[in-house]
Amino acid sequence: MPEFSTLSHLECSRTGEVLDADTVQGTSASGAPLLARYDLDRARTLVTPADIAARPPDLWRYHEVLPVRDPAHVVTMGEGMTPLLPLPRAGARLGLPGLRMKDEGLVPTGAFKARGAAVGVSRAAELGVRAVAMPTNGNAGAAWACYAARAGLGALIAMPVDAPEITRREVVVSGGELYLVDGLIGDAGRLVADAVARRNSAGAGYQDTSTLREPYRIEGKKTMGYEIVEQLGWRCPDVILYPTGGGVGIIAIHKALAEMRELGWISGPLPRLVAVQATGCAPIVDAFEAGLRESTAPADPHTVAFGITVPRALGDFLVLDAVYDTGGTAVAVSDDELLAAEHALARDEGTWICPEGAACVAAAGRLRESGWLDGSETVVVLNTGSGLIYPDTVTADAPVLATDGRIP
Ligand SMILES: *Cc1c(COP(=O)(O)O)cnc(C)c1O
Repeated sequence: MPEFSTLSHLECSRTGEVLDADTVQGTSASGAPLLARYDLDRARTLVTPADIAARPPDLWRYHEVLPVRDPAHVVTMGEGMTPLLPLPRAGARLGLPGLRMKDEGLVPTGAFKARGAAVGVSRAAELGVRAVAMPTNGNAGAAWACYAARAGLGALIAMPVDAPEITRREVVVSGGELYLVDGLIGDAGRLVADAVARRNSAGAGYQDTSTLREPYRIEGKKTMGYEIVEQLGWRCPDVILYPTGGGVGIIAIHKALAEMRELGWISGPLPRLVAVQATGCAPIVDAFEAGLRESTAPADPHTVAFGITVPRALGDFLVLDAVYDTGGTAVAVSDDELLAAEHALARDEGTWICPEGAACVAAAGRLRESGWLDGSETVVVLNTGSGLIYPDTVTADAPVLATDGRIP
């Protein structure tokens, strides 16, 4: 059987320290995220973009550069190969005729977190983990609980009481053990870490799969970068805007671009990567504007774009690297602006996106106005989830008619 994965080792994202990829790992000795490394010279001989085009339309089409070694361990619900939609009306309105949207509202569980969960859960199961545990702002917990169920693993999930209601139900319906925490994601993280330590000392086999505290969620999310490039005919867009919370997606897209360049699948300058946040919680934007390489948690973080309410990301320095390295930028938009963008996009294009994705649409308009974006550029906004997860962002008052009433 040909090699399914060319995974070679894990590497500390700060020091380059090398770790074994075939045991369960968390962070490096210095507490930094671990990055999966592949034998890309070998991968180049195993697969070409043309081979990939003939494969089924899910993220496993890039399996040589994913960490699962045995195809029997792939846990899938068909995630990936989401549409890269042209947005002709919205683009015309914003002065960006080349505007496109990578629409992750169409993956299982309704948010792109399914990508990280599919790959992370598959690899955890392959390495003998019996249950996953994580704090979440909602969508990641929902996705990991669903994929854990499909893999036959347990799932312990803790989320802020303010997290989107529907994500609680997704955890519960798929048999996850759910706790609501009267605080923020960081508070939930401390409670989960404590429970995992106690349960594992009794031999329970949990893995703490908190954001960037396990190496394979990035690998799932990086497939968004591979897909965007594949869907543009193996060409890079000029700019990608990404709603940045923990930053896994933007770190992952940056990693995918670097891998594709090393594979020889793309050439020329990389797309400028834009980290988009909400003004109520914009640590990365603050750091970027100050020219710093690490962020500071804002006081009282809050935004309706709940998935990007992350005051202090473990991988903040990697997000800022991605922005600096590609000549990108970082932009914060207010809740009013992003909600207006959510409504306007649905009217223009019929697609109801999540507030996090809408932040990117608002930011694209802002960057066009400032002249940072050129009207001739191919600009991709990432919509990370479906508007259906956030029903409260739209009010739908309508006249109630008696059965003998009259519609004008
Ligand atoms: C988690 C989440 C984000 C932020 O993702 P990161 O990759 O952690 O920055 C954005 N949008 C939605 C809908 C999310 O659930």
